[in-house]
Amino acid sequence: MIIKPRGTSDILPKDTPVWRKIEETAREVAGLYGCGEIRFPTFESTELFARGVGDTTDVVQKEMYTFLDKDGRSMTLRPEGTACVVRSVIENGLSGEAMPLKLYYFTSCFRYEKPAAGRYREFYQFGVELFGAETPASDMQTIALADTLLKRLKIKADLKINSIGCKGCRPKYREALVSYFKQYENELCDTCRGRLLTNPMRILDCKSPICGKIAENAPKTIDYLCEDCTSHMENLKMLLSDAGIGYEVDPGIVRGLDYYTKTVFEFIAPIDKDEKTGEIKYLTICAGGRYDGLVEEIGGPRLPGIGFAAGMDRLVAAMKTSGTEIPSNIAPAVYIAPLGEAAAKAAQKIVYDLRSKGVYAECDVVGRSLKSQMKYADKIGAGYTVIIGDNEIETGRAVLKNMKTSEQTEIKLDEIDTIISKRGQ
Ligand code: ATP
Ligand code: MG
Repeated sequence: MIIKPRGTSDILPKDTPVWRKIEETAREVAGLYGCGEIRFPTFESTELFARGVGDTTDVVQKEMYTFLDKDGRSMTLRPEGTACVVRSVIENGLSGEAMPLKLYYFTSCFRYEKPAAGRYREFYQFGVELFGAETPASDMQTIALADTLLKRLKIKADLKINSIGCKGCRPKYREALVSYFKQYENELCDTCRGRLLTNPMRILDCKSPICGKIAENAPKTIDYLCEDCTSHMENLKMLLSDAGIGYEVDPGIVRGLDYYTKTVFEFIAPIDKDEKTGEIKYLTICAGGRYDGLVEEIGGPRLPGIGFAAGMDRLVAAMKTSGTEIPSNIAPAVYIAPLGEAAAKAAQKIVYDLRSKGVYAECDVVGRSLKSQMKYADKIGAGYTVIIGDNEIETGRAVLKNMKTSEQTEIKLDEIDTIISKRGQ
C-alpha cells in the first residue's frame, strides 16, 4: 500500500467544516482590518529564504525541502510565507502603493521536522503582513487582528510580547550573548558552536535540551534596549491595555527567524489533552513580529513591516481542546425515494430541479430498496423525505414526511422547494 509521507495529513470531509470555519472567520476578520488577499508560488529560489529567513536559522539549516530543478537551479518549498510576500511586494511594485499596505494569505508550509502533536512536515498558515508603518499603533492593530480572530473562534489563548531590539541596540546585546555562551562553548551542540560568532541569538531557540538549559540564564534582549525600542515597547503596552487586550511580557520570546526587530509576540493555547492523565499540552498557535529590515534585505526599498502567522492545524486542535462547537457538514433538506423504474427516472429530474433552485436534495443512485433508502435518508440526516411511485407521478402529488416530527403532509411535487423553505428547512 502507498501511504502519505511522514508528517503530512489528509483532511477528510468530516474535518473540513472546521477548517472552512477558520478560513471564513479569518477572511472576515482580515476584511475588517482592511487586508487584501495575496497568493504566491509553492516554491521559490532557495536564496530568498537563505537571505530572508536567515542562513543560520534552524529553518534554513535543518528544515527546508530544497531541490535542484531540471536546469540545476536550487529551489525550496516555502517553509513560511513572509519572505514570499516580501518578494512579491517588491517584484510587483506594491511598495509604491498607498501605505499602509495590508495583506493576508492562506498557505501550506513545508519543514523537515520531527512530527508530533501540532508539528507536521506540511502544515497550513493564515498569515497577515502590514507594510509601511513603524508605529506602536501598527503593532497594536496587527496583534488586535490575531486577538479578534482567536476570540471569534472561541480559542482561549495567552498573549506574550517582547522586544528583541533594533540594529542600534543589537551590537551591545550580541556582545553580552557571545561572552555568556563562550563560557559554555564546549557544551553547545555543533550547530550552535558554529553560530556562536555568526549569529549567537539563534542559540536561544535551539531545540537541543543542553543548549536550551544553557540559554535559560543568557542575557535578555529587554535589558539591552535603546531608548527608541524601550519607548516603542512602552507605547505598545499602553495601547494594548487601553483596548483591553490582555498580555504578559515574556523576555524569553526570541522567535526563530532572523528578520525580526523590536516587537515579537506569540499566542499560546492548549492544543491537546491527554485522556488518561488530563495533562494539557500548550503550543504557540500564532506568532509574529516586526521586521523593519527585511524588505531591504531582499533587495527592495526601505519599508518597515509587521506580521504574524497562525498555524491552522494548531487552531483546529485548539478549538477542539477549548471545547468550541465544531461545525458539521450540511445535511440534505429533502430525500426523494422512488419506488419502481419510472419513479426512479422521475426522481432524477425532481432532484436536478430542486438543486437548480438551490435546495440540497438527494435521491437514490445506488439501486437500493425502498426500505434501505429510508434508512440511508435517516443516516445522512435528511430533513424531509418524499416517496414517489407510479401513482405520485401520475397525480403530481405526494406525501412529504418531516423526519424529526414524523408529521406527514400531502403536497404537490412541483411545490417541494417552496414548502420546504416555508418550513424553514
Ligand atoms: P515552533 O516554535 O512551534 O517550532 P516556529 O517559531 O517555528 O514554531 P513560526 O515559523 O513562527 O513557528 O510559524 C508560525 C506558526 O506556524 C507557529 O506559531 C505555529 O502555529 C505554526 N507552525 C510552525 N511550525 C509548524 C509545524 N511544523 N507544524 C504545524 N504548525 C507549525
Ligand atoms: Mg519551528
